Amino acid sequence: MDICEAARAAGFDPVIALVGAEAELPYATVLLCFVTYEAEKEPSRQGAWIHPYYPASQLAYRAAAALEERFRQDGIDLRRHNEIRLKPLFARLGQLRQGKNTLSYLPGVGSRFHVQVLAGNAPAAEYTHLSPSPKPLMCGDCRRCEQACPTGAITGRGFVRERCLRNWQLGGAAVPEGLRAAMGNRLIGCDECQRCCPHNPPPTGLAGETVPLSWLLSSPKEAAQQLSPLIGSNLALPNRLAAQACLLAGCAERESLGEALTALAAHPSAQVREHARWALKQRAAGSDHE
Ligand code: SF4
Ligand code: SF4
Repeated sequence: MDICEAARAAGFDPVIALVGAEAELPYATVLLCFVTYEAEKEPSRQGAWIHPYYPASQLAYRAAAALEERFRQDGIDLRRHNEIRLKPLFARLGQLRQGKNTLSYLPGVGSRFHVQVLAGNAPAAEYTHLSPSPKPLMCGDCRRCEQACPTGAITGRGFVRERCLRNWQLGGAAVPEGLRAAMGNRLIGCDECQRCCPHNPPPTGLAGETVPLSWLLSSPKEAAQQLSPLIGSNLALPNRLAAQACLLAGCAERESLGEALTALAAHPSAQVREHARWALKQRAAGSDHE
């Protein structure tokens, strides 16, 4: 079976084979294996929200591992290479378009996809060729994502990574104070600059996994174990979950989480302590204004 067909049979669609040399990579073939996820819904507003990208990417990760094993058993030289930078390749691929929000778009799907990469010396039956230089952005005069971003990370002069919420979530460092109140109920992921984009299908309901904030605050080790298959073991670390949950508790003033936050304000992790103390201050300031 052709390697693209094998990847499709493993659940990926579309599957695009690139010539490694065109991508300036030392492989005969670079196989881009896409998974798409439900795009037409708004984030859930209750509990700590997990953007649907993360569960989709974990499923794709497992499917790619199984595909790699199958190729290995069949003597096909293709291995996973998650270190390959995809955005420069997407910018030269005719099928994809790019936006000011730094995301790439597939026709009919929009930006709601994840890609696993396998590369090696096995040939594909058919290749898609890259253009020699990047394509222009698709945005024209549109500024919707600039206006929708809650932290001003998308500007007329480009994307400011340090202002993007996703850059800080479950990252292990204290989140800059000016960004904390914008976390809302986002445990991981932010959808604002995708949902507003006219190149994505409009939302028709609520979507995404949510987990109780009280559980994250009181049992972060258990939460890490249970969330690992959904968001990956690199992100599902107890202190990081507790630290992010503290910020969400600071944004959810009305839930009775004060006791858990007080305990976490003396946590051994400096990040957890800092976030818990900030949340307690937010809640105290909120009750002063009631
Ligand atoms: S993911 Fe959220 S915070 Fe980051 S640029 Fe998009 S809207 Fe702004
Ligand atoms: S919302 Fe508008 S400016 Fe932003 S990526 Fe989409 S088309 Fe481009």
